[in-house]
Amino acid sequence: MPDRAPQPVDRQLPTDEARELISLVRDIARNEIAPKAAEEEDAGRFPREVFSLLSRSGLLGLPYDAEHGGGDQPYEVYLQVLEELAAARLTVGLGLSVHTLASYALATYGTEEQRAGHLPAMLGGDLLGAYALSEPASGSDAAALRTKAVRDGNDWVLTGTKAWITHGGVADFYTVMARTGGDGARGVTAFLVPGDAEGLSAAPPEKKMGLKGSPTAQIHLDGVRIPDERRIGEEGQGFAIALSALDAGRLGIAACAIGLAQAAFDEAVAYAADRQQFGRPISDFQGLRFMLADMATQIEAGRALYLAAARLRDAGRPFARQAAMAKLFCTDTAMKVTTDAVQVLGGYGYTADFPVERYMREAKVLQIVEGTNQIQRMVIARHVAGPESR
Ligand SMILES: Cc1cc2nc3c(=O)[nH]c(=O)nc-3n(C[C@H](O)[C@H](O)[C@H](O)COP(=O)(O)OP(=O)(O)OC[C@H]3O[C@@H](n4cnc5c(N)ncnc54)[C@H](O)[C@@H]3O)c2cc1C
Repeated sequence: MPDRAPQPVDRQLPTDEARELISLVRDIARNEIAPKAAEEEDAGRFPREVFSLLSRSGLLGLPYDAEHGGGDQPYEVYLQVLEELAAARLTVGLGLSVHTLASYALATYGTEEQRAGHLPAMLGGDLLGAYALSEPASGSDAAALRTKAVRDGNDWVLTGTKAWITHGGVADFYTVMARTGGDGARGVTAFLVPGDAEGLSAAPPEKKMGLKGSPTAQIHLDGVRIPDERRIGEEGQGFAIALSALDAGRLGIAACAIGLAQAAFDEAVAYAADRQQFGRPISDFQGLRFMLADMATQIEAGRALYLAAARLRDAGRPFARQAAMAKLFCTDTAMKVTTDAVQVLGGYGYTADFPVERYMREAKVLQIVEGTNQIQRMVIARHVAGPESR
């Protein structure tokens, strides 16, 4: 059975422009993304043409300055766009979130010359980005990364392996964190590496439980030479840049999680109204009615939490604690709601005839990426209980 288009969510949006934007995104989601989602996810096909369409529609750089090709939208609007896209297909919502994350370092820490030179093609052109922090031996402990960048005249030479890179092998640019100094966070520097740089290659994509249309691959850097002009920020500032990017990126994951949960919930409600047992629709039974009520409540709570964090960010106030809370709560909600959606559909929910089993497999990865939910709890605990004593 084909994916159903998600029910429109009644959104609070700050401007008429934002309302028009959401309506455009809903058209794209309904007509261009959702109809092919199930088949292409099953086949593991990356929808590169959808990202070109998002680019032509002015959607690739929404939260960045219009001066450099961005859309000048507040985070509260950009995140609701992500939510709509993720409800149609997580590969697309998450892909846009990763592209935004990959563009963050240059947009926020680049010199005026660097921004003017590279950003228009990244935000308003047809380029797709990837963010390369993780390595085979350093995931949660990202500051232990080993990829090296060695200065050679006016160039840097990068050598090492990055792991789990979303858009690995299909990206046009990689924001790479590499070691230029001693051990630990202070020895890391950020670089903007072109996807076609000599010496850069991608391993075959990982065979994943879900999100199969989104390529995740190791990236090998074998003496990749790039000019100093592509170093972002100061030497040694790369880890701080990477973490600051992740604060905003986590809000993107939270919004995608709520989109996915909403799609699963819509499917469960429609099925429960249709399916008859004991001579009545199963939506008559209190056991299911209470499940649907809990699912709806968790989705609304998650949406309110990520939007509250986004509005803090839009107001220029600290939001790292709230971003970690939103990532934790929204992705746990996506896992719970998609699992419950499978239950509402009974045996049919466990088959590929309906999308809820795919949603459930996709939800799992959201509890892992951009800092596992254990790491989010560590971040929150540091804010509320202070640093650990050792
Ligand atoms: C589909 C996918 C896409 C990804 N995309 C990207 C990407 O684009 N760019 C990128 O850089 N990375 C990406 N990642 C990597 C992702 O960020 C890491 O997988 C994640 O940070 C966890 O690292 P790890 O897998 O090495 O697990 P580990 O760090 O080895 O953790 C294993 C387990 O131990 C727990 N753990 C670790 N340390 C602690 C602690 N101190 N306290 C409590 N528990 C702890 C973790 O929560 C986890 O449950 C992606 C991963 C996946 C699966």
